[in-house]
Amino acid sequence: MTAKQTETCDVLIVGGGNAALCAALTAQRAGAKVMVVESAPQAFRGGNSRHTRDIRYLHAAATGYVTGPYPEGEFWDDLSRVTGSETDERLARLVIRESADLESWALANGVRWQQPLRGTLHLTRTNLFMLGGGKAMMNAYYDAARRLGIPIAYETEARELKLRDGEFLSAVVRRGAETREIGAKSVVIAAGGFEANIPWLKEYWGEAAENFLIRGTQYNQGRMLKELLEHGAKPVGDPRGCHAVAIDGRGPKFDGGIVTRLDCVPFGIAVNRDCRRFYDEGEDFWPKRYAIWGGLIARQPDQIAYGIVDSKTIGRFIPSVYPPIEAQSVAELARRLRLEPGALVATIDRFNRSVRPGAFDMSRFDDCRTEGLDPPKSHWALGVTVNERAQVVMQDDRPAKNIFAAGEVMAGNILRRGYLAGFGLTIGSVFGRIAGREAARHALG
Ligand SMILES: Cc1cc2nc3c(=O)[nH]c(=O)nc-3n(C[C@H](O)[C@H](O)[C@H](O)COP(=O)(O)OP(=O)(O)OC[C@H]3O[C@@H](n4cnc5c(N)ncnc54)[C@H](O)[C@@H]3O)c2cc1C
Repeated sequence: MTAKQTETCDVLIVGGGNAALCAALTAQRAGAKVMVVESAPQAFRGGNSRHTRDIRYLHAAATGYVTGPYPEGEFWDDLSRVTGSETDERLARLVIRESADLESWALANGVRWQQPLRGTLHLTRTNLFMLGGGKAMMNAYYDAARRLGIPIAYETEARELKLRDGEFLSAVVRRGAETREIGAKSVVIAAGGFEANIPWLKEYWGEAAENFLIRGTQYNQGRMLKELLEHGAKPVGDPRGCHAVAIDGRGPKFDGGIVTRLDCVPFGIAVNRDCRRFYDEGEDFWPKRYAIWGGLIARQPDQIAYGIVDSKTIGRFIPSVYPPIEAQSVAELARRLRLEPGALVATIDRFNRSVRPGAFDMSRFDDCRTEGLDPPKSHWALGVTVNERAQVVMQDDRPAKNIFAAGEVMAGNILRRGYLAGFGLTIGSVFGRIAGREAARHALG
């Protein structure tokens, strides 16, 4: 693609979500002249970050916003457990340690935290909740960027990265029919993942990908990830490895956001189209398991499953925005869901017969469980490798001098599998700030 180089800056930031804005604010404050290109229009700016609610961070004591301490040892143990220790420990510990000032850093940039509330999935001690959610957080960061004089080019998609001898020179960007080239001394790629690119997903999932509902932004097409890989960046993570939650099948194709998430799974059972259970719904606390359910359902026929709960559980979990489909008997429920009544009745009968008596308690591993039943009831992670300075590492294991990455595009270094609620933003905030600082240092040096 050829285009005229019309502008230059010190640090070009590609993307407009949390990682991008953390990088932009940090680089501009360090004295660099920053530009941001965001493919979404202004009303949809902020990527998946605008759908978020909470962020996990290291802290030594309760504050007005969290109910108790979350020390490094516990944070690290939680991460090791969900990832099965498949993580780059050096980078993971860096994220944990550098998350300690996020409460005050975000406050200083206009974010307002919420006091701890009920119904926050056991997260009131470990995670900060944004007042007004991720949209308010992103608005605060954009407002801080405006006050610092950072130009934001909306509806502007970076299409191509131009490099010479492994060094970034410029990016070709497109807005509508207009193509131009922006030169910069360094670039930060914070353009999210490729979860909205259905043709790319099909390469790994086949036709099943057509049935996926993407509850995040439609603008994360992975074009920058592809560019980096084509320029020789070292990949990290599993392209089929995803942090995908169970979402209401009645939701829209894109951007359904948090209100389409189904949190009922650990309170009942989940069956596929053939009325078969396919995974242990009570394997661990929900914040450590909810992000595997999208991947589990993606492997079921027609990529659909049904979460079935007893009326006693209503009010104990955050409901979907769509009302539940209710019935007075299991057979009637099956008919309403267009499932085979005999098969659903048999699965539920078998489940109920295997349940051993116990005292139900969602705040601990309780003794309500099944016996003799199989299965028991007891974030697409492909990205680029980075080092601790957020430099993209190339296939010869050498870091690219002036190419930095932050957020979902490099989260696979730390979360190769598994997910910890609120940790996507932690990675993006910490690595966004590191990338901004290092990109500015390179540009000004
Ligand atoms: C519904 C939902 C709820 C979530 N809730 C939470 C939560 O509460 N806590 C948490 O920690 N995590 C949560 N996550 C995960 C979290 O959203 C991500 O980990 C995080 O937002 C990633 O930030 P990012 O800056 O890397 O990417 P994003 O915020 O997705 O930003 C990527 C940006 O890049 C832009 N872009 C893409 N390609 C280009 C291009 N070629 N040129 C220019 N711009 C481009 C996009 O428009 C977008 O603005 C949630 C995700 C979803 C979908």
